[in-house]
Amino acid sequence: MLWMCLAACQPVMLIPTATALPTEDTKSTVEARIEQFTPIPTVEIALTPTPSITPTTLPTATPTVTATIEPTATWTTAPTLTSTVMAEVVQATLPPTATIGVPVTLRRVDHYRLRRPIERSDTLVDYGDKTYPYGGTQFGAREVHLGLDFFNARFTPILAAADGVVLFADSDITTLVGPAANYYGKAIIIQHNFNSPEGLPVFTLYGHVQEILVSAGQSVKEGELIATVGDAGVAIGPHLHFEVRVGDGFDYRMTRNPDLWIRPYPGFGTLAGQVASASGANMAGITILVRDTQRTRETYTYGGDRVSSNPAWEENFTLADLPVGTYEVIVSTNGRSLFREAISIRDGDTTWIEITLE
Ligand SMILES: [Zn+2]
Repeated sequence: MLWMCLAACQPVMLIPTATALPTEDTKSTVEARIEQFTPIPTVEIALTPTPSITPTTLPTATPTVTATIEPTATWTTAPTLTSTVMAEVVQATLPPTATIGVPVTLRRVDHYRLRRPIERSDTLVDYGDKTYPYGGTQFGAREVHLGLDFFNARFTPILAAADGVVLFADSDITTLVGPAANYYGKAIIIQHNFNSPEGLPVFTLYGHVQEILVSAGQSVKEGELIATVGDAGVAIGPHLHFEVRVGDGFDYRMTRNPDLWIRPYPGFGTLAGQVASASGANMAGITILVRDTQRTRETYTYGGDRVSSNPAWEENFTLADLPVGTYEVIVSTNGRSLFREAISIRDGDTTWIEITLE
């Protein structure tokens, strides 16, 4: 059985193909996944062959810009809209602290306002599936993904990602909250009591739930039990489909990348960046390899179809849950290296990288 969020799958993809996707979720597969993922909240991805080009032999003509942002206005409390605006005003008045030659980008301020919707536990998966990240399509095999999937057994508790008020808690058969009726089956949408950096209301959506344990209009606290994991709607196999929406909680076209909203665990950070052509055009569908001495992870760029960048960041890829350390970021095609650069992941922070491809 497909352990993926079929809410984001085209119907045709219900038919197993001969390509990569697993077609059965046997118990052993589930256990293997949990075993594999439990020690470190990252997904181990099979080592991907990369060209054996040493950095010193790389062509230097490819113009690339790397801006490692040092966010100084990380929100550690729950500011009101006023304090949020004030924080940005304060930030905007600070002198540039970035390395000389690197454009100072005051806009890129971390906003890790959400906790994970699944409790941290040896037996639960509390991080999103990296094979189908926000904006991912699994190489065109599936519909663009509007959120993150947390694979857990039916009836696993789902927790509110932050304080707020329940906007919607019902089946989505008669009230559309996605691209089609009965898309999420049963869903909860919470409006949080803070705004996005651009001053718009922030919502989280919890889809395919088994049990709804709250009602519309109810106030909830961060970490409060609101639902349990199920497979309602267009889904095969129980999992939580989790979205962040900005501006309009009912509009599935208003999602944002949850990786930029969910607080990293201590000892972990997030990579975010932008891949663009030399003319500055967004390049979707690019595979980004992030490699350290232990393993190679993958993520993919997005854009255009239904998903949105944070307007402040203008990112088109992220890779969350990276242990603090140094990595190589690599883009290659047909064995030819197009980009390769070393980066550092910092504790609780976002490392920003810009990649320009010819
Ligand atoms: Zn999903």
